[in-house]
Amino acid sequence: MSDKQVLPVTLLSGFLGAGKTTLLNYILKENHGKRIAVIENEFGEIPIDHDLVIGADEDIFEMNNGCICCSIKGDLIATLNRLIERHDKFDSILIESTGLASPGPIAQAFLLEDVVNDTLKLDGIVTLVDAKHFWRQLDEVDVAWEQIAFSNVILLNKIDLVSADEIAKVDTKIRSINPTARIFQTQNAGIELDEILNIGGFDLESVQQSESFPGIDEHDGHSHSDSEITSVSITLEGEMDRVRFVNWLQMLLIMEGMDVMRAKGVLNLAGSDKRHIFQSVFMMFDGQDDCPWGDESRINKMVFIGRDLDRQRLEEGVKGCMVF
Ligand SMILES: [Zn+2]
Repeated sequence: MSDKQVLPVTLLSGFLGAGKTTLLNYILKENHGKRIAVIENEFGEIPIDHDLVIGADEDIFEMNNGCICCSIKGDLIATLNRLIERHDKFDSILIESTGLASPGPIAQAFLLEDVVNDTLKLDGIVTLVDAKHFWRQLDEVDVAWEQIAFSNVILLNKIDLVSADEIAKVDTKIRSINPTARIFQTQNAGIELDEILNIGGFDLESVQQSESFPGIDEHDGHSHSDSEITSVSITLEGEMDRVRFVNWLQMLLIMEGMDVMRAKGVLNLAGSDKRHIFQSVFMMFDGQDDCPWGDESRINKMVFIGRDLDRQRLEEGVKGCMVF
């Protein structure tokens, strides 16, 4: 497949009414000269968004008979395969998921399906968060957490409807759920396209460019209700044993893959002058050596995002892979 360019795919996520279709229209209207195929997934008997989305009919693929993260995930793969056949007609693909969809299973599909994996690349998960209804949605709907937990870029939208103080509170909460996502405060989903398209969000390289890997004790004192998603960030000096770490992480994901929704990090491996970066989506795990450390201090940094994360056990697990 060397002669063919790999098509970047951007997944638009976010709860009902957060502004996904507004953003989609904004992207399609912009004069970027790109040919974009749109996959529209909508809940509800009659497709509305199709009428709201501008663009040539032949470039919009509607999927309205269920949700692409669960009930019709197979159809999504089939639609992606159809797009692969016409891949020379497009420069990128945008998927607008329903407001009730979790991006996790969709991201996993890109890592699992070989054909998709060869031709298409999940470039980024862009999640819209409704600043006005944030707390209520977080309280009432589990999936609102997952939408934040899996995203690379978060548009904290509708900031015109809330106070600066409220925006700050929401921003802090979002960062406690996903410290690695880039957050933009927006009105009517207005954002520079370079901030959301072709960001290489799922490229391993992006792991080390993540916003931040807060220090070890930064997140103590969080109250945990059963649906709450939190993050545990670990920063450790010293050398890591590659085999022991890979075995430990794989065992962790096999045993607790549904709770450890996302993990990513940069490792200082014993016997190597190169950074080793890794990431996982549920039980899917990927790691590779990257560029040499050079003069930079060789610090192991990682973040785990999920439910019921046991900080102490994670720290002990990671420390158990150190070479002393
Ligand atoms: Zn679903």
